[in-house]
Amino acid sequence: MTRTLNRREFVAVGAATLAGAAVAKPLLGQAPALFVPKGIRPVVIASANGNRFRNGGPVTCVERAFRMMTEGSDVLDSLVAGVNIVELDPEELSVGYGGYPNAEGVVQLDASCMHGPRKRAGAVAALEGVRTPSLVAQRVMEETDHHLLVGRGAQDFARSMGFKIEEDLNTPKSRQLWLEWKRRIDPDHWLDPKKRADAGFRAGLGMVAEGLIDREHFYGTINCSGVNTKGEICGVTTTSGLAWKIPGRVGDSPILGAGLYVEDRVGAAGSTGRGEANLYGLSSFLIVELLRQGRTPKDAGLEALRRIVANTLERRLRDPKGRPNFQVDFYILDAKGDYAGVSMFPSKFAVCTEKGAETLATSSLFPEWPTR
Ligand code: ASP
Repeated sequence: MTRTLNRREFVAVGAATLAGAAVAKPLLGQAPALFVPKGIRPVVIASANGNRFRNGGPVTCVERAFRMMTEGSDVLDSLVAGVNIVELDPEELSVGYGGYPNAEGVVQLDASCMHGPRKRAGAVAALEGVRTPSLVAQRVMEETDHHLLVGRGAQDFARSMGFKIEEDLNTPKSRQLWLEWKRRIDPDHWLDPKKRADAGFRAGLGMVAEGLIDREHFYGTINCSGVNTKGEICGVTTTSGLAWKIPGRVGDSPILGAGLYVEDRVGAAGSTGRGEANLYGLSSFLIVELLRQGRTPKDAGLEALRRIVANTLERRLRDPKGRPNFQVDFYILDAKGDYAGVSMFPSKFAVCTEKGAETLATSSLFPEWPTR
């Protein structure tokens, strides 16, 4: 899906390029050539599942994305090809095919993507029946004047773009765990909707506590961002969202500025974890703004986490020590290729550089997970 820039985009990119070049080095006497900043270390960063799942193939998400990007493919095309591995892998229960379904047993997927150099973005939310929502988000970016299509409209759009629409994206495992969750909540629906939602959330947390589902996957997503040697930055986030969510619930992943934000020549930030916290504070946008002001990826991410702590007042969302009782992770890179994975509680993230792919510990705001 690599394409050339149209004239309007070429002029916009050229102007931005010249502005950047003017700051870095006077262009007197030089033809306006593409500004290639020196010393950029290409990198792809992702949530930890980006260096775990292979869908039966030889490479992980970050390996595929880094390789394509450094061989000259468009950065966003490379990242989307990377996350497609995770979306299609039935073993990954928080993304794409086989993702945890909603409270009615239907897999509803969210995804967004941003193309830094072209200043374009696309997203889908509550999309049913398509295994690779990131590709549909990319088509929204390419083919429409819009940034977000949801629900039935997103599915109709996907169909019109030639995507296969499937009746059911559950795998036996995702269905079995959903049935277990159903068994644990009031089957007669006597509770009012709020109590029922709270009961559903608590039942899910109980299953996490019992080790039935991974605590990192009660919420679960893949975010993946990259910068190439030209300093071009893109990002993508794709998810099945909160496990057993109320049908129609949309988290941060498809919302620009919340679960993903990219500003070319500045940086990219994306998130996994409790989407509501990022929707409230538009955390990814905040992080990129802090990068613009000169903060390092790690500092910017920790600041966003502190804001989440300050905004978390409700008792049900706090542990006995008053800290949030939920996880949020950020995956951040800047235009030089510096990067950080930060999280509320200890966690992991994936990265691929010229040294190869690695899974590293995040810098966490708190040293230990809350005890319940
Ligand atoms: N952030 C996603 C959401 O809230 C879920 C996750 O990353 O775990 O939908």
